[in-house]
Amino acid sequence: MSDINDQDLGMHRNITRRDFLNGVAVAAGATLLPPNLLADGDPENSPTYYPPTLTGLRGSHVGAFEAIHSLRDGNFWDTAGKPQDTGEDYDLIVVGGGISGLSSAYYFQRAAGGKAKILILENHDDFGGHAKRNEFTVGQRRMLGYGGTFAIQSPAPYSTVAKDMIRDLGIDVGSYQKYNNRDLYSSQGLAAYMFFDKETFGADKLVPDPAPLSEGEAGDLSITAPDAWKRFLAEAPLSEKAKQDFVRMHQGKEDYMPGLSQTEKRFRLARMSCAKYLTDIAGFSPEIVKWYQACTHSDFGVGLDAVSAQDAWAAIDLPGFQGLNLSPEPGPGQNRDAIRSAEADQYFFHFPDGNASIARLLVRKLIPDAIPGTTVHDVVTARANYAKLDESGSNIKIRLNSPVVRVKHQGAAATAKGVEVAYVRGGKVHTVRAKNCVLACWHVVIPYICEELPEKQKDALSSAAKVPLLYSNVVLNNWTSFKKLGTHYVASPGCYHTNLMLDLPVSIGDYRCSQKPEDPVVIHMTKTPCKPGLPARDQHVMGRVQIYSTQFETIERKIRDQMARILGPGGFEPARDIAAITVNRWPHGYAYEYNSLWDKFWLEGTETPCEVARRPYGRIAIANADAAAYAYTDAAIDQAYRAVQELVKA
Ligand SMILES: Cc1cc2nc3c(=O)[nH]c(=O)nc-3n(C[C@H](O)[C@H](O)[C@H](O)COP(=O)(O)OP(=O)(O)OC[C@H]3O[C@@H](n4cnc5c(N)ncnc54)[C@H](O)[C@@H]3O)c2cc1C
Repeated sequence: MSDINDQDLGMHRNITRRDFLNGVAVAAGATLLPPNLLADGDPENSPTYYPPTLTGLRGSHVGAFEAIHSLRDGNFWDTAGKPQDTGEDYDLIVVGGGISGLSSAYYFQRAAGGKAKILILENHDDFGGHAKRNEFTVGQRRMLGYGGTFAIQSPAPYSTVAKDMIRDLGIDVGSYQKYNNRDLYSSQGLAAYMFFDKETFGADKLVPDPAPLSEGEAGDLSITAPDAWKRFLAEAPLSEKAKQDFVRMHQGKEDYMPGLSQTEKRFRLARMSCAKYLTDIAGFSPEIVKWYQACTHSDFGVGLDAVSAQDAWAAIDLPGFQGLNLSPEPGPGQNRDAIRSAEADQYFFHFPDGNASIARLLVRKLIPDAIPGTTVHDVVTARANYAKLDESGSNIKIRLNSPVVRVKHQGAAATAKGVEVAYVRGGKVHTVRAKNCVLACWHVVIPYICEELPEKQKDALSSAAKVPLLYSNVVLNNWTSFKKLGTHYVASPGCYHTNLMLDLPVSIGDYRCSQKPEDPVVIHMTKTPCKPGLPARDQHVMGRVQIYSTQFETIERKIRDQMARILGPGGFEPARDIAAITVNRWPHGYAYEYNSLWDKFWLEGTETPCEVARRPYGRIAIANADAAAYAYTDAAIDQAYRAVQELVKA
């Protein structure tokens, strides 16, 4: 942290509904059920109920997780009281209202010819799961941000099933460039920059990045500042050796593994961390590792210390490998994010609220009155009517603020005609019944809510602990400081958030992106909490604990401080320029993907835990992206399709 005082940071300004609650403290407190679950009535029916506009701490917000955590801790039923039977009966109950849960309802309804009665139960106050919409208003201007899932994009091509759904929702993926103002920032002379912070590199310094690695969310980074190499070499606070190594890394052609065959090289690269390769094999300065440490965060959720050299090379085109002449074919145990496909690269579409638009289009298919409009254009600005999600006369209902705490067959699983599901709402436990159930929630939750599953399957489900992430959206009154500094994207690997960027300039329907530096804009910042030096899964655990136990005020202060230090020389003043902050906290973020460093079964090609975890059990089928161990929207869709097929064919 810098010495900038609270007044200058603007900590005194009431810009947001500041949420000082510490999630862990609430969970550990005397009341196991959080305030919104204790409230009687249906908050969604209030005309002011509109979660996308809530600022402060979102994502896994206070109120969403406490009941499930107390279930995990074994004390939920001590105080839960006797469940009350709602008397409701459905053809299908879906646990989890993310893309996979909504897709499950879509496929089941289609199989039933539109006649099925379906209930979706979701613990958050909004639908969409990771596909989260953030909305802001500055003056007359309404702005959107993605609080989670950024875009239709996947390392592997979408399946026919997933493509068919995207088409059925009205999304013409090939038309994306019509909406993307891709030259906006380059026409303003903006390029990628590097921020060296004094805690990590000895001095705060912003310099042009002469060779930025691609970062999907930042758009096109291929245009660099004209004097980038010269300024980097003159100004970067690195030792002379590190600067020379940086040049060698990008321009050298040396084979650092002479005498080894392709197979031998790949065998070794799959088993060693990228950090080790760069320092011990290629002989680069440790300062190089410090700079690139976070470059694998957005794919893998950990840094170079815990990603194999093979995966870092293949997934993000990390330089330093060109002299090895590696063939592009996938090597042993290569992570799925590191297997690139030209066809998949073409299949890209970003809505201003990310894939929350997909969630909204799915909800429109299921409950047309909930999302006004008819086209993929009008969905972007449509105001969802939350009161329509759970109407008594409707065949399909989405019940928010309703964590499921128990799923059990009515009788023996093999012969049962249905399941009973218990969930918490308004401070009480309720039960509902259905002929079928899809568990589209996170796999780590399932063993706690569905105790009757076989032990081996529960172990496999438990091993799917997700990757934690923070996606922070900061609304600025203008972006003149970016213009003055000449940047739209800054990598800052030593800082709390490891990058910051101007929003991708996309305009669809009535929605217009920020067009000129004087206009308000959304800045996107990401953080992948991890603990370098530990095995990857342990790093995810530490990161999860860290973000569950960090208050919004702390994150806000870090955001303001980081922006002041990076953008201050461009005239940025946090107290004056920041209009709103939403921090989307995802302690259970990306699905865990298998890799050659930490998962022996993956390297050896034997059965994977997700194959065991997703087995159907009686009338219960299991979806979610976790079921594919693949952290992408297409996995959530494909797994929903499979789960529904298992139920309708059984
Ligand atoms: C920050 C972030 C960025 C991403 N970016 C991209 C991207 O750009 N492109 C891409 O393709 N993929 C991306 N992904 C991955 C993608 O979002 C997911 O693969 C996909 O959306 C997962 O959908 P899902 O329905 O399987 O899970 P989720 O979206 O997690 O939905 C599961 C839902 O179940 C709920 N739930 C859990 N337990 C219970 C319970 N007991 N009772 C009721 N409900 C429960 C959860 O709260 C959640 O809402 C991203 C993920 C994250 C976290």
